[in-house]
Amino acid sequence: MSSPTRRYLLHQLTGQFRETTKEAIYRREVAHRVRLESGLAISVAALVFGMFAISDYHYIGVSTELYLLLAMRMVVVVSCLVLAFLIVRAGDYNRRIWLHALPLWILASGIILIVPLRPDSLPTQVTALLVAIMAFYLLIPNLLPVVAIANLYLSVGFLTAAVTMADISAVVTLRILLLVVMANVVGFFALLRLEKLQRKQFALLEDERVRNRQLSEEITHRKSLEAQLRWVAERDALTGLDSRRHFMTRAQGLLHRSRHKKTPFSLFMIDVDHFKAINDTWGHSQGDRVLTAIAETCKRSLRPQDVIGRFGGEEFIVALPETHLQDAQIVAERLQSKVAELEMMEDMPNHRLTVTIGIAGGLVGEVDLDDLIQQADRALYAGKHGGRNRVVLSPKVGNEGCN
Ligand code: GH3
Ligand code: MG
Ligand code: MG
Repeated sequence: MSSPTRRYLLHQLTGQFRETTKEAIYRREVAHRVRLESGLAISVAALVFGMFAISDYHYIGVSTELYLLLAMRMVVVVSCLVLAFLIVRAGDYNRRIWLHALPLWILASGIILIVPLRPDSLPTQVTALLVAIMAFYLLIPNLLPVVAIANLYLSVGFLTAAVTMADISAVVTLRILLLVVMANVVGFFALLRLEKLQRKQFALLEDERVRNRQLSEEITHRKSLEAQLRWVAERDALTGLDSRRHFMTRAQGLLHRSRHKKTPFSLFMIDVDHFKAINDTWGHSQGDRVLTAIAETCKRSLRPQDVIGRFGGEEFIVALPETHLQDAQIVAERLQSKVAELEMMEDMPNHRLTVTIGIAGGLVGEVDLDDLIQQADRALYAGKHGGRNRVVLSPKVGNEGCN
């Protein structure tokens, strides 16, 4: 798997993602923090800049320059505080980048303007300049191009002002130039490293999020597949009823509960009469339609707690918990007449659709499911021999006797 840094290549000079959409996503993610941090850093820098008015007074005493300096510092402090407030409230780091740049340029202009107004204190100002350059780089996070350009302006402006207004020698100019270059190089690369690290960390986090999302999608997909497979395994494809195997499992559970609670349990086998003739006369698909219609009739006529399964070709089986044999007989007869009423005559003229039903059950005691099925099957067989279209009770019932 490719590493996030390879995939989201970072720009070598800005530390930003080369991919603009990726960069925009990253900026949105850190926007809130950047706004707060920038606002705070600019406010602190502006206040510190204002406090240097004390040093102005110390250096030049009460004079026109002092008033000019005070006025200039006041403008810088107030405008920076207003901008800091705006940045915190609405400093959209993606669209209003100028809002972040503006206070830096104002502060830089203030620092440059001190040179002509206080030319005698140049060494102190150089120190302040170096601190300002580093502060811009380190305290204004995530805005390397903005900070670098503002620092370039500050450095060039300061040097120009120093050379033209403070009457310094070539050696001093060179010394200041070297210091300024050094501060810029150190600051730039420190922030570049920070920018890259933060974005790499973000890319890793994003990767993790994508992997988690894929994983949870995979889990959901697997669960749905599992549910589909279970459904297919447990159902009969044609009728949607329980498959024979699934019926056996569910009926075992119901029988076990009836035995435990000492409640009656009945079971009946339904077999379509002369079904082969339907297939032979009207075709196999008509036979399928008949089976589906009978299955639907069973579902509609029985209670939700009854379990219906397709036992074999045209045979169905029903488990009726908490049902006495005689009640099962009533249910079976109702079902028998519902099947007879099925509106399939148009498709099968002159054919009377009937079923034969064999019933077993009662208070089941120790009788097991296979025994009950055998009893119901025998009753069904007897019904077939007796002429079909009838409901037959197994003579050998559970412990219910003549219930
Ligand atoms: P009886 O009244 O004695 O029950 O006679 P029958 O014709 O209903 O019974 P028999 O066992 O002779 O025939 C059952 C037929 O059911 C044979 C088989 O081809 C057909 N059959 C089994 N499964 C399906 C199915 O899924 N669809 C269709 N259309 N026919 C099926
Ligand atoms: Mg049969
Ligand atoms: Mg049959």
